[in-house]
Amino acid sequence: MHPTSSPVRRHRSPAGSSRPWWDAVLAVLGLVLPVTCVCCGAPDRACCASCRAGIDARPRRRRLVAGVRLDAAFAYEGPVRVLVLELKLRGRVDLAPVLAPRFGALVAAALADAPGALLVRVPPSRAGARRRGFDPVDLLLRRSRARVPARARSLTRRRTPRPRRPVGNGAGTVGPAGIVGPAGTAGTAGAHGQKGRSALERVEATVGTLRAHGVAGHDVVVVDDVVTTGVTMAEAVRAVRAAGGRVVRCVALAEVPE
Ligand SMILES: [Zn+2]
Repeated sequence: MHPTSSPVRRHRSPAGSSRPWWDAVLAVLGLVLPVTCVCCGAPDRACCASCRAGIDARPRRRRLVAGVRLDAAFAYEGPVRVLVLELKLRGRVDLAPVLAPRFGALVAAALADAPGALLVRVPPSRAGARRRGFDPVDLLLRRSRARVPARARSLTRRRTPRPRRPVGNGAGTVGPAGIVGPAGTAGTAGAHGQKGRSALERVEATVGTLRAHGVAGHDVVVVDDVVTTGVTMAEAVRAVRAAGGRVVRCVALAEVPE
């Protein structure tokens, strides 16, 4: 009938936008752009019911890390690997509901077994955290609907690894210069992937890179998203123990089958 006189609020240009504003734009785009299942390409769902049922039927994983039980919600393979990569590398937070419930349940079970335990997370690499702008572990905890803290406190990375004496006795596989490396390299070991190194090199590059605070005298549940070799998780356990805490369980979203 009559034109509305209420002024339309205009947003500033994206260049000056804050992240919540951009998140809102992405959320709206997600409503109108076609979505397909990241696993099979079926329309309308980020992960279709069939793929989701297949993922839910996959077994949990368990192994020992530094003498501590590690519970993983999934093996890091097949469609689970696709989902985790889409979530972590492409920011597909709409996939979190597929992965979060089982992860949250494992964290909740670990905390229920050790009442009062602190939830401590392996810190993401600085590069990964910067690139993503969100923490996958915290996101999954929030979306899990389990009785778990909304945030895990984080271990910290040492900026400069302590110089270490070379190990080995000339057996040949370990190059001491490559182990110690220039300042800062050990702290980003996770970002470069650990699969190309020998097991001994991975351990050497990782020991001493993490530090725990405020855990003395506490039981601790250590969480991470993906456990590959277990070397980083073992370093987290070491760091907690060095700070006087007792690690009662490790929980991961997914672990790479050995
Ligand atoms: Zn599908």
